Amino acid sequence: MPEGLPSNRMVRGYAVVFGTAVLSVGLWLLEMARAGEMHTNPWIYPAKVGSHGTLILMCWAFILATRFRPIEWLFGGLDKVYKAHRVIGEVAFFLIFLHPIFLAVAHSDSPGAFARYLWFSDDWARNTGLVALAAFTVLVVLSIYWKIPYHRWKRTHDLFGLVLVLVAVHAVLGRGEMVKYPLLTIWYASWTAIGLAAYVYIRVLYRFIGPQYDVVTTEVRQRPADITDVYLKFVGRRMRFTAGQFLYVSFDSDAVTSEPHPFTISSPPEEPNPRLTIKRLGDWTGDVHRIRPGERARVWGPYGHFGSVLQERPDLPVVMIGGGVGITPFLSIIGSEVFAQRKEASVVIYSVPNEARQVHVQEITSRADQLPDLRAVMHLSDESGYIDRDYLRATLERPLPDYVWMLCGPDAMTDSIREQLLAEGVRPKQVVIESFDIR
Ligand SMILES: Cc1cc2nc3c(=O)[nH]c(=O)nc-3n(C[C@H](O)[C@H](O)[C@H](O)COP(=O)(O)OP(=O)(O)OC[C@H]3O[C@@H](n4cnc5c(N)ncnc54)[C@H](O)[C@@H]3O)c2cc1C
Repeated sequence: MPEGLPSNRMVRGYAVVFGTAVLSVGLWLLEMARAGEMHTNPWIYPAKVGSHGTLILMCWAFILATRFRPIEWLFGGLDKVYKAHRVIGEVAFFLIFLHPIFLAVAHSDSPGAFARYLWFSDDWARNTGLVALAAFTVLVVLSIYWKIPYHRWKRTHDLFGLVLVLVAVHAVLGRGEMVKYPLLTIWYASWTAIGLAAYVYIRVLYRFIGPQYDVVTTEVRQRPADITDVYLKFVGRRMRFTAGQFLYVSFDSDAVTSEPHPFTISSPPEEPNPRLTIKRLGDWTGDVHRIRPGERARVWGPYGHFGSVLQERPDLPVVMIGGGVGITPFLSIIGSEVFAQRKEASVVIYSVPNEARQVHVQEITSRADQLPDLRAVMHLSDESGYIDRDYLRATLERPLPDYVWMLCGPDAMTDSIREQLLAEGVRPKQVVIESFDIR
């Protein structure tokens, strides 16, 4: 079993985020104790844990959306950051309900009074709180529980910044401990300022000052199975990336709308012109094949830590499983010089439903012919069924716990394979997944 693999970085990221929320509640209790003004009404405590905790988590949700490198390092890759962004947003959503409910309990002596407390009145601190809660609820439902088209979802998501402003106004009008104790005022005002700055950065400034590069399209090649290869050439500065990373691209073309979309760079870093391999999925990717050579674009990045385990531990045997277009990071990885230097056994499994969809078989098998330690396996799920532990045991030479596993493809595929590997004694940190669905 491989030793010394990096721990699950998401755990570290969550520890930092939830740690600051706990610290904030601790500071609140400390300031009240120092002033000798602890609340005598016990219901106030869960109410305030709800408000203090949610404000910090909301600010973190904005900070995580900035795509800043230290944040990406903290969670071990941008796709992991977005998954954490969603979880933190969801926790903040449920946590906030402690606030109005327990304040109403604390200030009511009858069901009628409870209901009246949760309705609008001439108290603008409460009114702004109710409006913020209603807006927060609608936006979270639209983000997490109701799947609307991505471009519409993105526009509603933009409104979260306004909710943070409303929450800040509510806190000031409420004249609670956040306003009363200078230390808490500095603490929460700083977090709110950082949260709002993060929001303005990603929503307004990122397009202009983010890590961007100008490129021109050199070739657009239509492939079978609704796949289009788009080749880009840097105009001026060149982006330095490592194998397996991705970027955001926005084309100046009538063929597609200009919003940036994330795609893995499917060519190795040594190639002069990076290649994007794009599968038709929705409206934007459905028109990519109409982009013309010579049209300009802008890319932001590089992002992702998917390939870093190979650089960190070149001495470990690895199995790479790419499902459908999820093969793209592995096309870059096996094509790279760093990978060619590996002395340890590697297996790449390319899984598609049938031969007609085996778009990259030639590229993969010819690379395996060049590299003695790389074995290429083609898997056809229409014929062999989905990849499971029996298939893997029959296909691989060593016991499954001996390998590091890199998985990329539909979430249903990667989740199922991961589950089976863990059941086979593979440790969680031996399984690295790159997800294409970060919503
Ligand atoms: C890290 C990463 C690497 C990826 N690499 C590849 C690749 O190599 N090849 C490939 O074909 N696809 C890749 N994708 C997926 C690709 O980004 C989506 O398929 C594409 O954005 C869909 O756009 P659409 O308008 O056609 O689809 P829609 O139907 O509008 O959206 C389908 C889904 O795609 C995602 N999506 C749509 N627009 C965006 C956006 N602007 N930003 C983020 N996500 C979006 C959402 O999850 C949405 O639910 C990758 C995604 C990620 C996160």
